[in-house]
Amino acid sequence: MLDTGFFRRWMAAMAAAVDREAGRLTELDSAIGDADHGSNLQRGFAAVAAALEKEPPATPGAVLALAGRQLISTVGGASGPLYGTLLRRTGKALGDDAEVTPEQLAAALRVGVDAVAQLGGAKAGDKTMLDALIPAAAALGESLSFGAARTAADEGAVATVPLQARKGRASYLGERSIGHQDPGAASSALLIGTLADTAG
Ligand code: ADP
Ligand code: MG
Ligand code: MG
Repeated sequence: MLDTGFFRRWMAAMAAAVDREAGRLTELDSAIGDADHGSNLQRGFAAVAAALEKEPPATPGAVLALAGRQLISTVGGASGPLYGTLLRRTGKALGDDAEVTPEQLAAALRVGVDAVAQLGGAKAGDKTMLDALIPAAAALGESLSFGAARTAADEGAVATVPLQARKGRASYLGERSIGHQDPGAASSALLIGTLADTAG
């Protein structure tokens, strides 16, 4: 079972990972975007970590919902509403249980990922965060293994390199977006990687 502490540790691990990787994320965004993805997520997840410290929520669902609200209110770029929706909707789908199973988390993550696709109008292969999140959610649902989800997310992020961006700022570059990893897919791989780390 995954308790509230597990979800708080996951969000703290993501804040630390984003801090550590902010330079790389911003570098990826400087190639096909506006060079702010690392700083956007650093600001956002720092606010998440602070909010979780200040008012620790009582359930797993409430942890993710609070994290999502913080991201929406502190990150200006496209990734704020998209990551915010991912976590808020995943949290909402977890309901009020004090502990959840990996099955419940897998199902809730699929709801969150669908909400991101709905909000941004992107689908698999459009060179966005969804190219890491969709395979990760599928792998988790099939295997209930966080390690398998991490592998799927990492592979999905790397597989964005040869794609042409169809959504977001990178799509303005047309064919010139080819040959670079999507920054949001890279940060989504961090989100799933820190989930796997937290599960140990
Ligand atoms: P901005 O583009 O506003 O500067 P960020 O740099 O923080 O925002 O985030 C860019 C990332 O957001 C992209 O790499 C991509 O993964 C993701 N993204 C942008 N638009 C969409 C969309 N419509 N659907 C899904 N993800 C998107
Ligand atoms: Mg950007
Ligand atoms: Mg921006």
